[in-house]
Amino acid sequence: MFDYAEAAVEAAQAAGARYADARVMDRRHESMDARNGEIEGMTQDSSVGIGVRALIGSGWGFFATADLDLETVRAAGRRAAEIARASASVPGDDLELVPVEVRQDHWENEVVEDPLSVPLGEKADLMAAATRTMREHGADVALAGYDIWDTTKWLVSSDGHRIDQRIRECGAHMNATAVGETETQRRSYPGIRGQYGTRGWELVREIDLEGNAARIAEEARALLTAPQCPSHDATDLIIGSEQMALQIHESVGHAVELDRILGWEAAFAGTSWLDLSQLGTLRFGSDLMNVTADATLPGALGSFGYDDEGTPAHPVDIVRGGIWVGALSGRDSAALAGLDSSGGAVRGDGYNRLPMVRMTNVGLLPGESSLEDMIAATEDGILVDTNRSWSIDDKRLNFQFGCEIGWEIKNGKRGRMIRNPTYTGIGPRFWASLDMLGNESEWTFWGTPNCGKGQPGQVGHTGHPAVPCRFRGVRVGVRS
Ligand SMILES: [Zn+2]
Repeated sequence: MFDYAEAAVEAAQAAGARYADARVMDRRHESMDARNGEIEGMTQDSSVGIGVRALIGSGWGFFATADLDLETVRAAGRRAAEIARASASVPGDDLELVPVEVRQDHWENEVVEDPLSVPLGEKADLMAAATRTMREHGADVALAGYDIWDTTKWLVSSDGHRIDQRIRECGAHMNATAVGETETQRRSYPGIRGQYGTRGWELVREIDLEGNAARIAEEARALLTAPQCPSHDATDLIIGSEQMALQIHESVGHAVELDRILGWEAAFAGTSWLDLSQLGTLRFGSDLMNVTADATLPGALGSFGYDDEGTPAHPVDIVRGGIWVGALSGRDSAALAGLDSSGGAVRGDGYNRLPMVRMTNVGLLPGESSLEDMIAATEDGILVDTNRSWSIDDKRLNFQFGCEIGWEIKNGKRGRMIRNPTYTGIGPRFWASLDMLGNESEWTFWGTPNCGKGQPGQVGHTGHPAVPCRFRGVRVGVRS
């Protein structure tokens, strides 16, 4: 496969590209869905092809083909250079690339139990049994499913990179819906999207769908008659780690994508409220807020050995002690922003998509408290968990989130279950009110397998290490 990538890069250079890279990508995907005790559907698909990028002047060109023969890939390289030349006819400064250490390497993530090798019958039994148990415990609709991705990539660049990686990812999800007279309630496990990682089938065994099925079905039914979440202009809000993962994803992760900050990427609620002139000085949150983008975390969904430009995975400080100090970047965006090096965050969704800045594992570093400490320290407040709905403006500043479940906190104790909890805030003001966060034993690497970005759309796999957190003075109210 390296031969095809090398031929494409050489052809792009011969056609005038001052930099080129090519990525052969072979990806297999399998998924299965169960509903109310029966298997509803199953897919197995695969794709293989090559994508070539060429840089001329101020513009990139990209071309992809599924035909892996030497003549076709050379033509793809020439075509990428032609497109770059056409893009560069728009006036603009030459696009520079920050230097990167050139490596020839192989990388693959650790997998205990190859997920595609687990017998289909065994996987089907697990999904069907979980939905059957939810039905037996009060769910009107019970759904469960899993996804497996097995991806091999071969990267060659005109700088000399020659890197192959095999990344295996999997995970599962389930939810129980209870139908009442006027509304429905749903509980999901482990989170709204389930749980995913760069791991083998052992991840699915560990989350124990069957062992949690009865509980979530009973919670969904109990929510139907639970009191509405009260409205408060300002209350103490404790957020469970799964909802924190989405809070981080939407209000920090997307906001610190350098292509959005630079104004390159404005699709799908793009752009950002952050201004590069404030990098290193802007207060993003309280002193307790430490956020990193770390693609080296074992098993997290946003982990890899190298990004799609060959930059080695490494931790990048995003917020340190509440101050905004870093961004998610690639070689070109880093150069334009005046950064010394790439954040190693460039990935493409398949061989036929232009790699772009994507989140790696953007997450909160743990603190010293625990969920139980936070409850004990709260006189009057609300605890919420598991995302249900989200809304955030184009600049990633004003947000409203709904959660599946909540509980009143009175005098340091968890009280009544409440339904339809929501909360709203403005990014930096909200994060400034963070005053307690969970410890390392509560640190969970949540995986988001469906982050949408770009046109044509790309689906990204991102990870979000998170802990339960307490925020002061938050507006909480019923779902509108
Ligand atoms: Zn996203």
